[in-house]
Amino acid sequence: MENGVYPLSEGTYTIAGDHIFVPFNVATDNIRDRPASLLVEIQPFLVVTETDKIVIDPGLGLSLGDGRLHIYHLLERYGLQPTDITKVLLSHLHLDHAGGVVHQVIENGRWTWVPSFPNAMYYWQSTEWDYAFSKGGPSYPIERLEAMRMKSKHVILNGETIIDNFIEASICGGHTPTHQTFLIRAGRDNYFFGGDVVPQFSQMQRKFVAKYDYDGKRSAELRELFTNRAIEEGWTCLFFHDIRKPYCKVKRVDGMIMSID
Ligand SMILES: [Zn+2]
Repeated sequence: MENGVYPLSEGTYTIAGDHIFVPFNVATDNIRDRPASLLVEIQPFLVVTETDKIVIDPGLGLSLGDGRLHIYHLLERYGLQPTDITKVLLSHLHLDHAGGVVHQVIENGRWTWVPSFPNAMYYWQSTEWDYAFSKGGPSYPIERLEAMRMKSKHVILNGETIIDNFIEASICGGHTPTHQTFLIRAGRDNYFFGGDVVPQFSQMQRKFVAKYDYDGKRSAELRELFTNRAIEEGWTCLFFHDIRKPYCKVKRVDGMIMSID
């Protein structure tokens, strides 16, 4: 398959104060029936480069009726098997981003968690891990994270790192105390994953402070900084929670931030 970015959406959901993701059918459901809820896509990404097949934030870990992960079906459309994935990057460890790191299979008559991408190297920040375990559920899928640590191939990052000379992992904070972003430099393309600091394109266009962030003011400042760099350096920005625009490049026209489609 061609080098590039491929969204692996698990669908559209609403989330309210109870932290539960409720599936939302854009054609038949009405957001007014879900007061005080955010409407979000849950959208992991596949980035294919010369050397790697990278999954970024593998999502909730939704299974379909046949018991297989939804994301497996999406990969299959591109002719890929779970074993083809070489890296799994984790911006932070909230359930909607890290729920899919492992999945359950029957081993010796018992349900057991195993890595969803058995050949991949998993990457997460050590301080995000500590924060997750200090907070626990329901925001963090503790049991699955423990299984990931036990059974996956992984590198636990301690701060800013360049992975294999082409992926810049940078701690930015904002959404969680040590949330990280990824900038994948692949030939002429720069793919930027801002995680939940820039989860939707519209958040680059307006200034606001979100109450779901650990430090909303910091996130707001970061969005401005990332938007400026995205324009200057021609980044393709990937939006994990955007229900319309999975990714785009951005430009400034008469002071307004617009997408380049
Ligand atoms: Zn999220």
